[in-house]
Amino acid sequence: MAIEKLLIANRGEIALRIHRACHEMGIKTVAVHSTADADAMHVRLADEAICIGPPAARDSYLNVAAIISAAEISGADAIHPGYGFLSENAKFAEIVEAHGLAFVGPKPEHIRTMGDKIEAKRTAGALGLPLVPGSDGAVSELEEAKAIAEAAGYPVIIKAASGGGGRGMKVCTSPDQLETLMQQAGSEAKAAFGDATVYIEKYLGNPRHIEIQIFGDGNGNAIHLGERDCSLQRRHQKVLEEAPSPILSQAERERIGGICARAMADMGYRGAGTIEFLWENGEFYFIEMNTRLQVEHPVTEMITGLDLVREQIRVAEGKPLSVAQEDIRFTGHAIECRINAEDPKTFAPSPGTVTSYHVPGGMHVRVDSGLYQGYKVPPYYDSMIGKLIVYGRTREGAIMRLRRALEEYVIEGMKTTIPLHQALLTDPDFLDGNYTIKWLEEWLARDGQA
Ligand code: ADP
Repeated sequence: MAIEKLLIANRGEIALRIHRACHEMGIKTVAVHSTADADAMHVRLADEAICIGPPAARDSYLNVAAIISAAEISGADAIHPGYGFLSENAKFAEIVEAHGLAFVGPKPEHIRTMGDKIEAKRTAGALGLPLVPGSDGAVSELEEAKAIAEAAGYPVIIKAASGGGGRGMKVCTSPDQLETLMQQAGSEAKAAFGDATVYIEKYLGNPRHIEIQIFGDGNGNAIHLGERDCSLQRRHQKVLEEAPSPILSQAERERIGGICARAMADMGYRGAGTIEFLWENGEFYFIEMNTRLQVEHPVTEMITGLDLVREQIRVAEGKPLSVAQEDIRFTGHAIECRINAEDPKTFAPSPGTVTSYHVPGGMHVRVDSGLYQGYKVPPYYDSMIGKLIVYGRTREGAIMRLRRALEEYVIEGMKTTIPLHQALLTDPDFLDGNYTIKWLEEWLARDGQA
């Protein structure tokens, strides 16, 4: 099928990103929006816009009935869910397809499998991905937990099967804590996710977060687009991402990328996906798979020259992947800064009206943002207001360019995390690529640099 009109079931910069890919492919767009987003840039630029509810996401961007109605009224033939909101909701994907619309995303059964952490781990193991040592599924009995922790070696981490957003995890350093922590983890998981099921993994002391971008055509062909290093995190939220990782060699990239691509081919995976690993001492350990486009996808686009949203749409139309693995060339280096409407020291949200706005430009500088002068950032949603992505032939070149671009970027009317990024980009450890998932929080505590 050829998609002629696509409904974007999202908001903010990612809605704009999808709109741009569509218009470059000659596809008309339908924006949906809450009453709080009537003046948003994605609404202004779309060919049609339909209000689907009040500000609260559960009544608008998560309102399946309203979104499907909007697709029917506008005559859209496909829905792109972006990231967050309904993007990893298997039921939503099924409903979209049951209405005869193309879902620009994976097959619903794959969303479901990867959305359940125990099922995801089991599937990943069966497909040959390297796992964190630990329990083979759920653990409920203390004796069993002790044996597993003993075999994996302390410390271990107790994780909620239905967990997400870094919640519902307990680190256990010795056998005598195990009973209490298992109970705590179980009851917290029950309260947060309605499911008390927990499992156990070896706790890695100081890993990096390295994720592999994959793409499948749904018919048994899959490729990988290399890695992104997303180790710079605060409270499990990514702050700055880069590709390639400063610590991975071409041989290691090809090895882990090849394993991931083969796994996705065997699975018959369709569309874009990210396989997330912790990496320590040269070893990869699968933690989860995201069955959607990621916030940080532009760094991969910069070093491969591929448009991932275009590729997603082509696959949703039933077309083959536009490139084969051997056509993919990784060149140069790309870095993305997530810019949030937050106090750069306390991280308190700082929504407000943009009183003055100037975007950086020049060679190899990309800004994905729905901001404009006079725009009022609503307080109801995620605080990320934009992404600044730069490319350089070398990592050093990219860092110099990013510093220059951050200097030019003016957003007045609210606090933003631009000063945090500026401080990060002069830190000797960052310049050396010498950081792990613990590094940023230690740096913030130590220097309060921003
Ligand atoms: P969520 O879905 O809640 O984000 P993940 O399994 O992706 O859960 O883990 C979130 C974060 O928790 C990881 O990025 C890492 O920082 C930490 N983490 C998870 N598992 C381990 C582990 N086995 N060892 C050390 N840290 C871990």
